[in-house]
This record gives sequence, structure tokens and C-alpha cells, in this order.
Amino acid sequence: MLGGNNPIRVQSMCNTDTKDVEATVKQILELEKKGCEIIRVAVPGMEAAKAIGAIKKKINIPLVADIHFDHKLALESIKQGVDKVRINPGNIGSEEKVKAVVDACKEKNIPIRIGVNGGSLEKDLLEKYGQTPKAAVESALRHVQILEELDFHDILISIKFSEVPPMIEAYRLLAKKIDYPLHLGVTHAGTPFTGTIKNAIGIGTLVGQGIGATLRVSLTGSLEEEIKVGYAILESLGKRKKKFEMISCPSCGRCEIDIVSLAQKTEKLLEKINKPIKVAVMGCIVNGPGEAKEADIGIAGGHGKAILFAKGKVLKTVPEKEIFKALEKEIKKITS
Ligand code: SF4
Repeated sequence: MLGGNNPIRVQSMCNTDTKDVEATVKQILELEKKGCEIIRVAVPGMEAAKAIGAIKKKINIPLVADIHFDHKLALESIKQGVDKVRINPGNIGSEEKVKAVVDACKEKNIPIRIGVNGGSLEKDLLEKYGQTPKAAVESALRHVQILEELDFHDILISIKFSEVPPMIEAYRLLAKKIDYPLHLGVTHAGTPFTGTIKNAIGIGTLVGQGIGATLRVSLTGSLEEEIKVGYAILESLGKRKKKFEMISCPSCGRCEIDIVSLAQKTEKLLEKINKPIKVAVMGCIVNGPGEAKEADIGIAGGHGKAILFAKGKVLKTVPEKEIFKALEKEIKKITS
């Protein structure tokens, strides 16, 4: 279920050749482990469409077929048991072809995602409005109308731009006009650093305003990173419960221990343990004890040593080279 009070779902898209069932399944299972909740695959040809059934059998999360123009690919994907089709009805061609896809979706009770992209809008809309959020919204509404005229309402919509301000505006405009669940994303957002910032601002702004049913963080690079960033956005906005929380100070001239490597090692450990716990890794005794006391486990650095806190109480003072070991021991005590 998507939309309404259901959790906002984090999705990704495979970058394998869909025809290569083994590689695609392997990638999906890895992403599942990282928390991916919906996965999309490109269906550029009939062989890829025919591979859907074999892929479906081996994975556990809903599978979406991404199709451009060719209704036969949609029909085959549906026949193979896909869980959702991403296709723009306005680009399919004759009414007959659209109806065939809609009828097949109705029969299998699966939704259609309309995916509007700021970079590929209809010519007449570009002439009327330019490459603007208004043009994208009108394009989305045209596709919606085609489906509604066929009495099909199991619809999701995405309306992506590669720049953040038009992306936010387009989704806001669209959310005012329709009530269907929206799939959020900044398209072609870039490499992990730039992309993470663009996605966090674009998706985060909308989610913070109550807009969005699913999201995909698009990053050129690791798909696993997409999932991680997706969750981080939702967690930061309180839309997903954090498994663990780590507070660490940025360090300053008062810090007399190697707080950076200590924070990195602690975060890695927490990711591995993946249990609900709050840990504070702080550099000095000015601001350190306050945060450390609020956490389940915390340290506040000193000159070549640190004070270790557990549940608000001082446990002991440990020399710098033993801080991580002592932290690890206490964290494992609480989480095991
Ligand atoms: Fe500086 Fe201490 Fe604050 Fe860390 S906790 S930033 S070392 S004042």
C-alpha cells in the first residue's frame, strides 16, 4: 500500500541488464538487505519483459517495470507478474493500445506510475510554458486524464526535474491539483556528494510538508548509497524510526583526542549492530558530558583520555587508546 498513512517507501532502480536474470536478482537481493522496499527494472525490449517472471520468483519486494512507449512490453511484463508498471499513457499511441494496458492492469489489480520528466516534455507544452513546473504539471494531468477516462484510478505520479527548485515547485503544484500518491525524486541528481545534497533538499522539503508516498534518491554511483540516503532523509524528518542514533561533535581547538576516527569507527559498529541505541561521541568536557549523559552510552574526551558514561552515569575514565574498545564493550552489553 502506498500513500495515505502508509510509511513512505524507499525504492531504487537496478542498473543491470534486465535480461540477465542472475545479475539482476543478485543486485535486488543485495538492495533488499540494505532496506530497499520497491525495485524498478528497465524493460527496453521483449527479452527483458520475459525475464520479469523469473526475477519475480527469486525476490521478495515489489517489482516495477519501467517502460517507454511500447505497450506490448507492458502487456508482457504484466503477464509475467510485475507489481507495477511505469508507463506514460499519453506516449503509448492509439486509444486501443492504452486500453489494452489499462485492462491488463485492472485484471491483475496493479497500479500504473506516470513518470513525467522535466527534460522530456511534450513539444506543445514546451512552446506554451517552456521547460517549467507548470508544463510538467499539465503533462502529468494529461496522462492522468487518459487513465481516468478509462475509469482507472490506481495511479502514482512522479514529476522529476534535475534541478531542485523546479522539482519542489512541480510537486507542490501537482499535489494541490490531485489526490494520487506521489513518487518523489530529483532526476539525474549527480554524483554522491552533489546528489545527496540535492535529493535531501528536494525530497526532504516535500516530505517535510507532507507530500510524497515513495521516493527514489538518484545518485550516479552506488545503489546501496541511494537506499542509505533515502532512509537518512526520512529519519531526519522523523518519518522513520532511527535504528540507532549517534551524536558526535565536529571537534574544535578544545578537543584533545582523535574524535574523527573514533566517531567513524563507532558509526561503523552501530551500522553493523543495527539495534536501537543512542551513542554520543564528544571531544571535550565543556559540551561533552551533557550530550554523553543524555545518550545510552557516551564518551567525553579529555587530555589523552575520556570519561565513559552509561545511562547518564559516569562509569570510568579510560586512556585514549582504550576508548573505542570500552565503548564497544558497553554498546554490545546494551544491544545483545
Ligand atoms: Fe569542541 Fe568540545 Fe564541542 Fe567537541 S564537544 S566541538 S571538542 S567544545
